[in-house]
Order: sequence, then C-alpha cells, then structure tokens
Amino acid sequence: MPRSSRNSAPVQPDWSAILREAQSRFGIKRFRPGQREVLESIFSGRNTLAIMPTGAGKSLTYQLPALFLPKPVVVVSPLIALMQDQQEKAEDARIVVEKLNSTLRKSEAESAAEDIQQRLAQLIYVTPERLELPAFQSELKAAGGISLLVVDEAHCISQWGHDFRPAFLSIGDARRALGDPPVLALTATATEEVTREILASLHAEDATLINTGSERQNLFFSVYPTVNNEAKLARIADMLSREQGTGILYTASVRSANELFDFLTDRGFSAGCYHGRMPARQRERVQQEFMRGDHKVMIATKAFGLGIDKPDIRFVFHFEFPDSLETYFQEAGRAGRDGVPSRAVLLYRLEDKRIQSFFLAGRYPRPEEVRAVYEALTTSCSQAESPACPHAPAADPLTSDAVAVAAGVHKRRTQVILHLLAEAGLVRRTRAAYTLAPGEPPSAEALEHLLQAYVDRATHDRERLAEMMHYAETTNCRTQVIRAYFDSPVGDPCMRCDNCAREFPGQLTPEAAAMLGIARPERREPSPKEPGQTPAAIEPQPPPVTTIATAYGEIHTTAPETLIPADPEPAFHAGDKVRHKRFGQGSVLDVHHDIALVDFVKAGQKRLRTDFLSSA
Ligand code: ADP
Ligand code: MG
Repeated sequence: MPRSSRNSAPVQPDWSAILREAQSRFGIKRFRPGQREVLESIFSGRNTLAIMPTGAGKSLTYQLPALFLPKPVVVVSPLIALMQDQQEKAEDARIVVEKLNSTLRKSEAESAAEDIQQRLAQLIYVTPERLELPAFQSELKAAGGISLLVVDEAHCISQWGHDFRPAFLSIGDARRALGDPPVLALTATATEEVTREILASLHAEDATLINTGSERQNLFFSVYPTVNNEAKLARIADMLSREQGTGILYTASVRSANELFDFLTDRGFSAGCYHGRMPARQRERVQQEFMRGDHKVMIATKAFGLGIDKPDIRFVFHFEFPDSLETYFQEAGRAGRDGVPSRAVLLYRLEDKRIQSFFLAGRYPRPEEVRAVYEALTTSCSQAESPACPHAPAADPLTSDAVAVAAGVHKRRTQVILHLLAEAGLVRRTRAAYTLAPGEPPSAEALEHLLQAYVDRATHDRERLAEMMHYAETTNCRTQVIRAYFDSPVGDPCMRCDNCAREFPGQLTPEAAAMLGIARPERREPSPKEPGQTPAAIEPQPPPVTTIATAYGEIHTTAPETLIPADPEPAFHAGDKVRHKRFGQGSVLDVHHDIALVDFVKAGQKRLRTDFLSSA
C-alpha cells in the first residue's frame, strides 16, 4: 500500500485558484514542462520524484503547494546560501517562510520556533543536519505535523550522504519520525540507479516519477585535450579573454583553485575564489560579489554553485574533470539558465585522473574504522558496569561525537558508520545517542561483510570516473554520450558540440557555429600534383587537413585516414557509423583486416571483428 495514501488526505486542487496565485504571486503566465504534473502528483498526496533541468522551475512545485496545503511544507536544502536566496523569493511571493540552520542567532531561531508553534509557517527551509535533530522533529509534531517533505537537490543523498554530509542518509528516518508525510524529491540529474537510491533512502519506492529530461538546448559542449599544465593555463587565459560575460571555472582541488586564482589575477582577470576550506563568512562574501557580477570568473571547487540562481552565467569551464559525468553535467548546467547560448568547456589531461583517484581512495569507511566505532560502544557499555552488557542496550548511550572521540575516527565518518551499524541492527539509536543492540557481538567477518556495500560503491565510483574520461575522449557526439549515460535514447547528433562541429561542419546553425567558434571550415587542398605523376593512389597523399578557426584558436583535424584498399575491401572505414548488438551505436576509428576499432557512444572504445558490426 502506498505509504502516502494512508497519511494525508488528498487535497482537491482548484486549478483556476492555483493558476491565479501563480500569476499574482510569482508573475508566471503558464506552467513550464513538468510543473503541472508535479503539482498534480503532490495535490493527490503521492510521493513524487521530479527530474527537471536546472532553471526549469522546480522551486515553484513546492512553493505553490505551501499556499494550499493545510500544514507546513518542509524543504530540506543542502546549502545555507541557497536557502537565503530561496527564502527571499518566497517572501516576495508573500509566503510565510522560516529557515533553520546553524547560522541563525538565538533570537532568530526562537522567533522561527514560535511561528512554527503558532502554526503560521507555510514553508520551512532546513538543512538535513537540522531535520535530523529529535528536538526539531518534536517541535514539528507538536505543531501538528507537516503536509509535505521536500528534498531539494536530492542527488546529494547519493553524492554526499556517504562521506561528507551523512545527515542526508537520515532524511528517511526523519520522515518516519514525522509520521510519513508525502515526499517530493527534486533534482536536475539522476541516473536510474541514483533514482533508486534516492527513493529507497527516503522510503518512497512508490513515488511517481516525473522526468522532463536534463538536456539543455542552449549549452554548447567542447573538450580540449592539453599536453601539460602550462598549456592548460595558457588555454584558460586565452578562453577567458575571449568570453564577454561571467562564468565559473571549476577545479578538482582547493590547491588548484588557489593556484589558478593567483595565476589569473596576476594576469589582470577579475576573479573570485570559492572552496570548502574558506571561512563561511568569506565564502558568503565572494558568492554575493559573484551574484552581483563583480567578477568575470568564479574559480571554485565543487563546493560552489549548487542551486545558484544566477541566470546569466555565460560559461562553465572545468580545469580538471570531476568525479563523474553526472557531476560534470550538473556543474556545466549552471551556465545559461536564462536560455541564452552558453559554453561548457572541459580541459582534459589524462594525468588529472590521479586527483580523482586520490579522493576516491579515502571516500568510504574502512574495516578497522568500523571495528573502532563498534568497540568504542562496547567499551562505553562495559564501563557502565552493566553486568548484562552488551545485552543491556539501554546502558550509557553515547552521542555520535562522543563515539568519534572514543574511537579516534573522524566525526562524519563515525556518523556514516553508525548509520551502517544501525541499519544492520547492531546498534540502536534513541534520539541523538547510540547504544549496542542486544545480542551476541558480531564476528570480525560479519563486520567486514557489512562493508561490502562500500566495496561495491568504490568499484562503482571507479566506473563512473572511467565514464567521465570516456566523455572527454570520445569522438562521438558528446550529447549522445551524455544521453546514453542517463539511460535516455541516444537520438541524433546534437550539432551543439565540438565533435559534431568537426564531423558536420556544414550542418551547424549559425548560432552553434558562433558558439563553437567555427568561422568557416576551410579545406586546405593537398598540394598540386607534380607533372607526370599518375593520379592513382599508389603513393597516398597526406590526408587533407581541415582547419577550423575556433574561439580558442585553430583546431587542425585530419580527415579520417584513407587506407590503401586491401584485398578484400574492408567492410567498414574510419568514420563509418556502426551498430553492435550489445554496445549499441558507435563510430569506426580504424580498420585493420577484419578487426575494427570502434568508439561506442555508451561503452567507449572496443576492438571487434567487423562481422559483428552493421551499418547504422
Ligand atoms: P530550478 O529548477 O533550477 O530549481 P528555479 O526554481 O530556481 O529552478 O527557477 C528558475 C527561475 O525560473 C526562477 O527565477 C523562477 O521564478 C522562474 N520560473 C519558474 N517557473 C516559471 C514559469 N512557469 N514561467 C516563468 N518563469 C518561471
Ligand atoms: Mg533549485
């Protein structure tokens, strides 16, 4: 039975009233794709997951219901800066908004609590860390509960829950504690797998899925392979000097953010720098500067940009690639929310893989850490001198911070482990403290077995990284690679990426040609033949070079190399589009006898017998 239908009486929506409010409060003339479907699902009390592109208007899908639903709508939002922005917008629409996070002064927190108590609040923004607090949950319950639990940027559950924001894993528990109100999860990007993980974590497997796709017609994708760091720096400076508007330059580490900041400001670029290791106040300040348009470029790590509603970001450049294509697409998608053509450019160097591999290596709990956490609870238990310990689970509960200190394991890591142990029934959580569950202590093998899920995750992370690199190296349409990654139909080449520009230079729209920087493909003919030479291809001519003048300098591409016809004629040639039963669509890179090297849209490069290929 769908959980939601037990708990909330569906509100019959009066669509004319809803549209009226949308018009008068939000200045909206018509709903955008997906919005009405999400609203219908919410008003009928169903759990809902919406995947809609950045800038599509996901906020409206809970702000409007906040005006109509009988009890407050609680929105879990990952970032305080984001909350501030959302709060101001909702207040402009005359919604009673509260926000609760760690930056509030005592008086502000008290006044928010009072508004909730008085049942005035319509929309409450919280961080997952706040929602997790039993005291806050009791406050909401005392005020009569909530009508809807919204998880904004829901991909954070899988992206951040297992390492640096473990509170994301507790949203499902909080939902239970609040009596299972219907849930609305919102994200711009989610693969099928991430979708499943989000819904399982929220205990909302029955959710209605609304997916308007993630594709953005105004984004133009390119990748520049670079040989070394100097070449990269020169390229970045050149790219920036050609951009008219403002944008973001992402780096994979704090260190390279700082280095790039020095490099670019030395060269006279107006830049901001933003990363997680800066004090909150400083971060807030540069963010505001960027929003005001004070800087040409924000140099930032992944800590920056989630949900930033700056519509006129004209470019998103990546100095190093992120951990997955999903993250890349999410970050690139911050450009061009206003629908104006914008660029997404990745600078690529194979060596950059090392940075991501380094982060991946320390991402998940290790067996010895799990043991240390478990033992910290055992010790505290025996120190309580409870003879039946660990059969007396009520003895001496510890907060996760206390466990972290006793175990000598990092706080966040401890929370992830406690969550894992609680899921396995080895640990009990009562309010904010933990004790051992009754029963025999688990064997060392059993504890290690618990970690299997994380071993699988680590393998999966490496696969995701390989997919990111495939995007960078592909000769296929980059949008097709992205579509394949998100399990959407591959469709036609997009005509909005550098690879399409190389392959179909004559077919680009003038806009795309301008964005991809193609003046006019100019074919340099091979030098005139010497008199007396026969035109036969006995001595193959050098392949014609196509020079493409781009916004970032010239790209020289050689036409697919023509092989001297062997006997028999190969079934396929470089450049041919082919199809394989298992690997799907791809383009032939090279053929040697009956073996072809094919670059598949989804699966990357493979060497295969040509009999297994058909023309596409
Ligand atoms: P996201 O889906 O990225 O969360 P937002 O909710 O921040 O997007 O909305 C982006 C912008 O689009 C906001 O400025 C919002 O006011 C505007 N917007 C939302 N829905 C509509 C609509 N139906 N018509 C016009 N503008 C809209
Ligand atoms: Mg949003």
